[in-house]
Amino acid sequence: MQFETLAIHDGQAPDPHTGSVTVPVYQTSTFGRDSLDHRSEFFYSRIGNPTRKALEATLALLENGKYGLAFASGVAATMAALQVLKPGDHIVACNDIYGGSYRIFEQLLRPWGVATTYTESESTDSYAACITPATKLIWIETPSNPLLQLSDIRSLASLAKERGILLAVDNTFASPYFQRPLELGADIVVHSTTKYLGGHSDVIGGAVITSNPALHTIIKNYQGAAGAIPGPWDCWLILRGLKTLKIRMKEHEANAIHLATLLEQHPAVERVFYPGLTSHPQHELAKEQMSGFGGMVTFALKGGLPAVEQLLAKIKLFVLADSLGGVESLISSPAKMTLWALSKEERERRKCTDNLVRLSIGLENAADLEADLLNALKP
Ligand SMILES: *Cc1c(COP(=O)(O)O)cnc(C)c1O
Repeated sequence: MQFETLAIHDGQAPDPHTGSVTVPVYQTSTFGRDSLDHRSEFFYSRIGNPTRKALEATLALLENGKYGLAFASGVAATMAALQVLKPGDHIVACNDIYGGSYRIFEQLLRPWGVATTYTESESTDSYAACITPATKLIWIETPSNPLLQLSDIRSLASLAKERGILLAVDNTFASPYFQRPLELGADIVVHSTTKYLGGHSDVIGGAVITSNPALHTIIKNYQGAAGAIPGPWDCWLILRGLKTLKIRMKEHEANAIHLATLLEQHPAVERVFYPGLTSHPQHELAKEQMSGFGGMVTFALKGGLPAVEQLLAKIKLFVLADSLGGVESLISSPAKMTLWALSKEERERRKCTDNLVRLSIGLENAADLEADLLNALKP
């Protein structure tokens, strides 16, 4: 069955007790037992809950994986996926990495004896050069935040296989509608379901998907033991979001292509970063490993931070906010917002300059968004 059919049907059969076509919110902490000797599938909601089970099954289907696990946030999912490592192991991570993942690697894992090396660039050679005998995991985010650079999933998967290490992909920016890393050879996929999968800026959540039973067992045990699980109501909201993922992603992308093309021709703009533009250095790779280019557009303004501040003061429809992937268009300054916690040196190393503007393109009418942007970019 095709993606949009799976998103609506599989894993979400009508409720066996009532016929309810939507999976009920099983808002309960515990489940009555038949007898002392018999524990049924559900007994305590930290370990398992029917609403979460439906979400986890649907997430696995959409990533074409065997097992899905839902978490209370994207960073909780990241932390859970990293439990496949132990002290002394080493990670190679992409250069342009989500700020919260960087914080996990540096502030949580490093003191526990798991060190991370960041690549110089997103090329496969650059990853290979960072591998040491202790390396156990390559962690990538593609397209990356905020520069929308791509890592070659297929070639990194074969590099990882060759060296006997794992490849994990944070697939938040592309969503499984546009990119399915497990099909390209990755071992683990991580999501912040807060973003496109939930899709309405109304819930925080995360997910880990894999087809490897041994990895699944480790991460599932951690989920139950550490307990960063989403409540039934949050699971239900993400399930509802998933049903419209395809049509939302297509519209996010159509609007993004329109605005990226417009920005590229604008005299106030120095450079546009969007994998769908032929000017993007990895446009060919994007066409190969993705079936669409997504809804995130980053651009550099001529005139530095003052130009960014002027744009933000004049823009009306785009909301100044940190998140992404919702129905409403958002605008942000990566240097002052999402990556503000990094040192200036680290931001410079990552080429996150002060003149960057990141847009999460929403589902509003393209002409309305265009008019708002053009007006705000007027000198
Ligand atoms: C937001 C985000 C995360 C973290 O997810 P939360 O739901 O905020 O915990 C991880 N990776 C990427 C790429 C993100 O955008």
